[in-house]
Amino acid sequence: MALATLRGVSFTYAYTNEPALRDINLTLEEGLLYAIIGPNASGKSTLCALLRGIVPLFHEGELTGSAEIRGRNLFDWDPAELSREIGYVFENPFTQISGIKETVFEEIALGLENLGMPSDEVIDRVEQVVEQLELGALVAKNPNELSGGQRQKVAFASIIAMDADVIVIDEPTSQLDPESSDAVFAIIANLKKKGKSIVLVEHKMDLVAQYADRVIALNGGRLVIEGPTSEVFTSPLLNASDIARPAVTDLAEALAKVGRPLARTPVTRAEAADLIRARMKGGPRANRSR
Ligand code: ADP
Ligand code: MG
Repeated sequence: MALATLRGVSFTYAYTNEPALRDINLTLEEGLLYAIIGPNASGKSTLCALLRGIVPLFHEGELTGSAEIRGRNLFDWDPAELSREIGYVFENPFTQISGIKETVFEEIALGLENLGMPSDEVIDRVEQVVEQLELGALVAKNPNELSGGQRQKVAFASIIAMDADVIVIDEPTSQLDPESSDAVFAIIANLKKKGKSIVLVEHKMDLVAQYADRVIALNGGRLVIEGPTSEVFTSPLLNASDIARPAVTDLAEALAKVGRPLARTPVTRAEAADLIRARMKGGPRANRSR
């Protein structure tokens, strides 16, 4: 069964004129890591919210077309059940913090308490996540005193603790430095290995290229292209739109333009390094043959 099937989905927020999503046809499979990319206001957050039922159940508006989550029409889901199956990390980490708990430890525990889990199990689970995400230095702090990056990590920890099958994360690394961003993606990759389905929004294209199985590119609320990561990043459709690509993909194209193409177009740094190494070996001969 697919994680989500969208057929001709458009969504317009209440009191706005322009649709945030336009005629989206898309099937998301279970067990994969999807990255949603696209410029500002292209509908990335709205698509995430739709997968979690927040659009249209919480944010009002007009939805047309049909949206199925795990084989069931979105409107037939009990919102509480959907929230247990799909962990959701908001784009703005300030939104996620409850504001009702006095320590980070309690904040991470909140979602588990809401599930009715016995308190010794809650404590075990939170301790595990704190260790896994190296949040030991934060647990005693007041969530309201955290920096944006710290809040983002705590929001992420709260969702991981819930252990949902599906995790939707809207811009997990927007407030993080490169090192913490890498650490978050390593954890996400590990969750996928455990069989979780992951959908995330990310602007750091090198991380998307390295970790995503498939990429969903949006522009102006429309689906530009969806497919395997390297296909999407090397597609002329993406190139024709306003969407950033990995630096090495741009580099390869620049090399091709000056008559020094690589054997194929790389999307990850590792691929690019291999291709450039191969080119250096063949390079002098290629020059002589001109
Ligand atoms: P992205 O995440 O790609 O930046 P969004 O999904 O947030 O894009 O926004 C898509 C469009 O929907 C934008 O024009 C934005 O202004 C609008 N929008 C987003 N959230 C709301 C909301 N809660 N109410 C009204 N309009 C919204
Ligand atoms: Mg957004």
